[in-house]
Amino acid sequence: MRLSKGLLGFFFLTLLITMKTEDHLVDISPVIRQVPTPHKVVALTFDDGPLTESTPEILSILKEKNIKATFFVVGEQVEKFPMLVQQEIAEGHEVGSHTYSHPTLIKLRKDEIEKELDTTEQAILKVAPRPTLFRPPGGFYNDMILKKARDNGYLTILWSVDPYDWRYPPVGEIINVVLRDSKPGSIILLHDGKYPSSTPEALGFIIDSLSARGYEFVTVSELLQYYQAKP
Ligand SMILES: [Zn+2]
Repeated sequence: MRLSKGLLGFFFLTLLITMKTEDHLVDISPVIRQVPTPHKVVALTFDDGPLTESTPEILSILKEKNIKATFFVVGEQVEKFPMLVQQEIAEGHEVGSHTYSHPTLIKLRKDEIEKELDTTEQAILKVAPRPTLFRPPGGFYNDMILKKARDNGYLTILWSVDPYDWRYPPVGEIINVVLRDSKPGSIILLHDGKYPSSTPEALGFIIDSLSARGYEFVTVSELLQYYQAKP
């Protein structure tokens, strides 16, 4: 009797540990900056588009290299260039919400935050599947923003690699920062929303160099599947 009680206890302990290690990242983290994983996978993300000057060029590089990425689109840009979002989806990329007018959300009232998310969702829904990922502009958030995103079925995604490409630095600087900071599970932040931009020029080299180091590129939703808690 004593032995079986001990066994039972051991069984429950094992079960608890198993449950703990199988916790999903989204249940333990309010925002996701990267995904803990031993696998050499990273996600390329592009914010602030679509824009006719830069998005088609980035899409054509991704197509040529057979890479799938994630685009965090701005609602008012989606309304201007819906065909580009359709193309992103048709070519196997993921589309997430990056608000309607790209405001600093933490300065807004609750109803304004709701409007930013809802109008973007409506704009995306006309041309793409319902988005499940949300990225607040500038990465600024508070509890109200996180709750609204969660209530609407979004995971809030930030990033772990940031070459500040929106500041239009030299191509080499974008490449160096991305290659220096990328590791298994990284979420890389780039932009397709400003022009002129050195990003398209840097992109091919970034893809080739990380591929040569054994990295695979996946969408953010795919990257989340690689989540593995540290023992
Ligand atoms: Zn942005």
